[in-house]
Amino acid sequence: MPELIHLSAAELAAKLASGEVTSVEATQAHLDRIAAVDGDVHAFLHVSDTALDTAAAIDARRAAGEELGPLAGVPVAIKDVLATKDMPSTSGSKILEGWLPPYDATVVARLRAADLVPLGKTNMDEFAMGSSTEHSAFGPSHNPWDLTRTPGGSGGGSAAAVSAFEAPLALGSDTGGSIRQPAAVTGSVGVKPTYGGVSRYGAIALASSLDQVGPVSRTVLDAGLLHDVISGHDPLDSTSLTDEWPSMADAARRGGTGEALTGLRVGVVRELSGENGGFQAGVKQRFDETVAALTAAGAEVVEVEAPSFEYAVAAYYLILPAEASSNLARMDSVRFGLRVRPDSGPATVERVMSATRDAGFGAEVKRRIILGTYALSAGYYDAYYGSAQKVRTLIQQDFAQAFDKADVLISPAAPTTAFELGSLVDDPLAMYLNDVTTIPANLAGIPGMSIPMGLAPEDGLPTGLQLLAPAHADARLYEVGAAIETMLTDAWGHDLLSQAPLLKEAVK
Ligand code: GLN
Repeated sequence: MPELIHLSAAELAAKLASGEVTSVEATQAHLDRIAAVDGDVHAFLHVSDTALDTAAAIDARRAAGEELGPLAGVPVAIKDVLATKDMPSTSGSKILEGWLPPYDATVVARLRAADLVPLGKTNMDEFAMGSSTEHSAFGPSHNPWDLTRTPGGSGGGSAAAVSAFEAPLALGSDTGGSIRQPAAVTGSVGVKPTYGGVSRYGAIALASSLDQVGPVSRTVLDAGLLHDVISGHDPLDSTSLTDEWPSMADAARRGGTGEALTGLRVGVVRELSGENGGFQAGVKQRFDETVAALTAAGAEVVEVEAPSFEYAVAAYYLILPAEASSNLARMDSVRFGLRVRPDSGPATVERVMSATRDAGFGAEVKRRIILGTYALSAGYYDAYYGSAQKVRTLIQQDFAQAFDKADVLISPAAPTTAFELGSLVDDPLAMYLNDVTTIPANLAGIPGMSIPMGLAPEDGLPTGLQLLAPAHADARLYEVGAAIETMLTDAWGHDLLSQAPLLKEAVK
């Protein structure tokens, strides 16, 4: 039997259901793996000390004959942006260090209700601002493929945990790419659902009109299984959709047969295909090969244009800081976490607040608060925030036209493979450009998925394929994503993660 940590969540769930394996054994195997490698990877900010008790209680209920859900007993890692009442929730920031929320985020409550076993909280850029986890107040995570490189961001911890076999599943959040870009550079699968498809209640807000919680996994089916657990209407989130969602896991199973590609209209977005440079050669090569393979598999590949995408990053970096500056106003030293008294002079509310925010926020967060406050200020609001909102509408129109011609759109999920730690952290604009391919989906509210697309020949590191579908058509992503996953793994003759150097010793 392969080691428990190498099983997909679906495989593990089957063994748990048949009684071949207990949740305590599965949970212990992942805790052992965390103990063995997380000193190097630093995917976790906090490891649960109640995971084994939770697992034992689930085992006991299963033994008593209780009917349990499809992922019951499977361990899961949780991005630290999500409120958990039994584990500290910091959003990667010193200002919330040690904060124990009085409630669970809805998605966390749903994990517990479905009897998954929370393993711990994963590292992230502070308040989810960044593309490398280097803005975490608690030190960066490392990419399991090459420990000198970043696992992407902001959800690098979740992607690193899954790709280092420390957890079969994880939750992330994606405001501009923070699920999909880390998935791309670690060889894992990540999904940003349709805006409103998954509750944001208890997700520490970055930019409320862009944030979505979603699954991170090693297979498309596993992501679908987790998506089914967390999605659906939540009256506690005023932007939560009331859709009745089809099962994403069923869609992935249908797609896994490969037939979904015949006659499928696949749009290659010209502005995101690397034609104008800016993409690493090996990423572009793997993308071109994937397009050719799709054509050979019977898909109808068409080129689509999205002229407004040129302005997406600029619009995003006005809208996001504007919303973030407003959301982060609640970190006021009164309600949560840190409280710092000024070195000298009277400790008035204003002066305590100012000293706390000065000490508690990192440089990137301060940069964006200042930018956002400026963009929203009287006299500049129309010029900056108002213009950015207009660009947002144009991007939505580009997508609508593209989806007239294509069922799904594809592009590389990130312009490069994982970059070296330290190489971009002092260059905010270069860091921002990592999300050039992912940001348009957030601005339009549509769902997006990143799946492994092979290793770049020049550095042997993973590349990711991004799939986009119209709003509400998340199931289409799972069906097509699973079909492409089957097509590519059949062509490679192995699954991608078995090639990672740190993992070779473990994946026998
Ligand atoms: N890297 C992007 C940013 O810094 C995306 C963040 C995110 O999706 N949370 O804003």
